[in-house]
Amino acid sequence: MHYIVFDLEWNQSQNPASSLPELPFEIIEIGAVKLDKNGRIISRFSELVRPSAYPSVNPIIKKVTKLDSAQLKCAPEFPSVCADFLEWCGEDPVFCTWGSGDLMVLRSNIDYHGMEYEFHSPLTYYDVQKLYSLQFADGKERVALETAVEQLVLPHADDFHRALQDAYYTACVWQKLDLKRFGAYLSVDYYALPAEGEYWNFDFGTYTKTVTGSYETKAAAMHDDEICRVRCSRCGEYCDMLVPWFAVSSRYYLTLADCPSHGKMQAKLRWKSLPGGEVFAVKTVKSANKERAEKVRKKYKAFLKGVAKSEREGDENGTSEDGTE
Ligand SMILES: [Zn+2]
Repeated sequence: MHYIVFDLEWNQSQNPASSLPELPFEIIEIGAVKLDKNGRIISRFSELVRPSAYPSVNPIIKKVTKLDSAQLKCAPEFPSVCADFLEWCGEDPVFCTWGSGDLMVLRSNIDYHGMEYEFHSPLTYYDVQKLYSLQFADGKERVALETAVEQLVLPHADDFHRALQDAYYTACVWQKLDLKRFGAYLSVDYYALPAEGEYWNFDFGTYTKTVTGSYETKAAAMHDDEICRVRCSRCGEYCDMLVPWFAVSSRYYLTLADCPSHGKMQAKLRWKSLPGGEVFAVKTVKSANKERAEKVRKKYKAFLKGVAKSEREGDENGTSEDGTE
């Protein structure tokens, strides 16, 4: 088993109107390092890619990567580079990236070029940026790779934003991670989703995660029992709902539930949009101590206040949301 720490540089259309929905980001460089199970670097991969969808390099990308169209013109095309890369990865690679974007972009480029490669389903990977935050910050903050490298006082030159260098620095951060403590917190790649009526369930020890398939709207998703009901993160039994699901923002819903055996559970639904306008949800459930439970109740009260306020304002304007009054 090998860890493949990879990084991509990509180009995009200079004119948003001519951006291809199936390929918003076109890969122009793949860089990677291979680590053995002990975290030692045993091999490197670095190739430029000749773009075909957006042949001229966006000036912003050029400024960041110092790559220009003329340089890329001489490079091999994506199918050939990617085939070499995937072969170099070997069987059952465990992918590690800085942030959550690279696997999605890699998979969209593979699909765009009609290449076939069997990724695991669900595909899990190590998001080194997230793990860095869990170990060295609050678990929520996301810092730039450069910042992490500086904070860890790792030897470096001023050569960020090229694929191999960034992959190498990500690997250096990876080597500093305490995988015994944080290695369980794998990330899930959402490029492909569960089929209709199926769910991906993960138990990370301190919380559970469920990834749904796609729905036309949030409202349609909320008709799905499996989304609405909350299972205890410890025993998997259905909980009693203590407050109904409520929206904290357009991006996430919250609720508080109770397992007769394990006490209060906080459940969160994070909504994610798909390019076609559909949505899917990522539900997480974790134990809620008194303090956390109180926080959820407070947020629920604030939500109710907000609803009452917007209803009052609706009355003042002589309209209501459903138009019946
Ligand atoms: Zn339970």
